[in-house]
Amino acid sequence: MLNQYFTDLHIHVGMSHSGKWVKIPTSRRLTVRSILAEAAERKGMNIIGIIDALSPLVLADLKALIEEEILVPVSSGGYLYQNNTLLILGAEIETREVNGGLAHTLIFMPDIKTMTTFSTYMSQFIRNINLSSQNAHMPLTQLIQIASSFNSLIIPAHVFTPHKSLYGVCCQRLSHILSDQDMVKLAAIELGLSADSNLADRISELAGYTFITNSDAHSLDKIAREYNVFSMETLSFLELSKALSRTDGRQVIANYGLDPRLGKYHRTFCRQCGFTAAEGLTDKYCPQCSSSTLTAGVFERINQIADYAEPHHPAFRPQYSYQIPLEFIPGLGKKCMAKLLTAFETEMNILHFATYEALSNIAGNKIAHFIMTARNGTAAISAGGGGIYGRMLQ
Ligand SMILES: [Zn+2]
Ligand SMILES: [Zn+2]
Repeated sequence: MLNQYFTDLHIHVGMSHSGKWVKIPTSRRLTVRSILAEAAERKGMNIIGIIDALSPLVLADLKALIEEEILVPVSSGGYLYQNNTLLILGAEIETREVNGGLAHTLIFMPDIKTMTTFSTYMSQFIRNINLSSQNAHMPLTQLIQIASSFNSLIIPAHVFTPHKSLYGVCCQRLSHILSDQDMVKLAAIELGLSADSNLADRISELAGYTFITNSDAHSLDKIAREYNVFSMETLSFLELSKALSRTDGRQVIANYGLDPRLGKYHRTFCRQCGFTAAEGLTDKYCPQCSSSTLTAGVFERINQIADYAEPHHPAFRPQYSYQIPLEFIPGLGKKCMAKLLTAFETEMNILHFATYEALSNIAGNKIAHFIMTARNGTAAISAGGGGIYGRMLQ
């Protein structure tokens, strides 16, 4: 029998238990322990990926949690927390192409032993192995060659963002920088906050890949702002890898992404005057102040490089649903949120399963109404751009 699991595979660790920073700037509260508690208990995630496990500081914290039996190893990979949440170990690594473009890639591994060997090997290329998302001073093809000699899942991260991504700044086609053998070694493609499968399926070389949508959380409250539903038999690394490759009926059956209009880099934005472009701006110069300080939005970038004007979805492509995290709901303060969590236990239950009546009994009609429009995709939104989030209109 297959089960459905809420999954967020891109969560950063801020600080180690020993008080050393792993990712700056983040919060001191962002430790492995607090991530596990937040993701499992408050957010209601069933599978999470911590992507700073290349850091020996994080590896030490994980070992301690295993010794305390807070994390229990699963024989086919991954670690169970409280018997119902699977932790997957990942690394986010920066590569550099010959054109100077930088990109991030996620590498997931089944256990601490494998990740430790990988970390030791990578430390000869990375200046400070303790820190998150470090540059490995090599092109992606070389990283794929190294990582694929381990039991790993290789997933290019947030592939359309204007900073540090493959389509954003490295290439117009992956096939320009990767060989055919490299391409088949990619386990999936992470879309990133400002893209969805309608945009990504306008690029023909992506048709064979499973898309995943993750939070890239740098703070506890951002965990699960994007996530997936995985259909698999049990909680393990092996089952997760089967779902990504769509083997034995396992698959990703839903992507929940931040509404692209809420993303920080959806539209082209002028850093000089703050102008945010309306649909389809392709000029080099800002139409408002004529300066050339435009940051290309994800939407414009995909328009620039797409093969198709309309998306060509492969048959297996699941529904991509726009998600509005509860933090975007106007007027939903801390007190009200606490009451909702007491009633419905997790944010997933509030977002997906609580009825309008039940919600309005606790939070009032207005907030219940906003949550329902967020759930069914009818919310009114003003678009973001240039590093500023969009927002839900009252
Ligand atoms: Zn990244
Ligand atoms: Zn990241």
